[in-house]
Amino acid sequence: MRALFIRLAGCNLRCPFCDTKYSLDPRAGRPVELEEVLARVEELKPSLVVATGGEPLLQRRALNALAERLHERGYTLQLETNGTLPAPEAGEPLYRAYHVVSPKDVPVAVPGARTHPSWVSYARETGRAWFKFLVSGEEHVKAVERYVEENGIPRERVYLMPLTSEDMGPEELLEAHRRVAGLALGSGFNFSPRLHLLLGLR
Ligand code: SF4
Repeated sequence: MRALFIRLAGCNLRCPFCDTKYSLDPRAGRPVELEEVLARVEELKPSLVVATGGEPLLQRRALNALAERLHERGYTLQLETNGTLPAPEAGEPLYRAYHVVSPKDVPVAVPGARTHPSWVSYARETGRAWFKFLVSGEEHVKAVERYVEENGIPRERVYLMPLTSEDMGPEELLEAHRRVAGLALGSGFNFSPRLHLLLGLR
């Protein structure tokens, strides 16, 4: 799918496995006007607009303004979040967007990370949230199983993605993908590759 990524600078976590460390400092970004972003969207006409980070919900007001304008123009907005900040409430333009929540307290607990409980209710109410977990082996998958069962999250709403590190070469990356794809098949979860790494894109 032709997706346009809008990467917002700044994050409230510091995950050791983060593959976008350049985005963590809010001052690392370049201030842009909403109109500039919209002009780029109109120029490229993507099938999907993805807001990611860092943690994009740290700029919630700007995201709501973006969501409103994109929806008016018939674009689909997908937000990628670590889930530590509250889910959108009915009435916020972001409520109508799609959300990929990547918890950072399960299966690997990052210091300071706690998935906000509103994401589970948002997923139930709207059907527009999916959960993506970074895993490397069976123990991680068991922790994910416990979490989704405790929270009543259906397995078809859950993606497993390989937990990788910057020093992995192409063979190690492929091996991690094969392993996690097998674990997903065996447990009834979906599998999501780290396509940008497999393609050598950073
Ligand atoms: S939440 Fe995401 S962007 Fe923030 S430090 Fe963790 S992996 Fe990196």
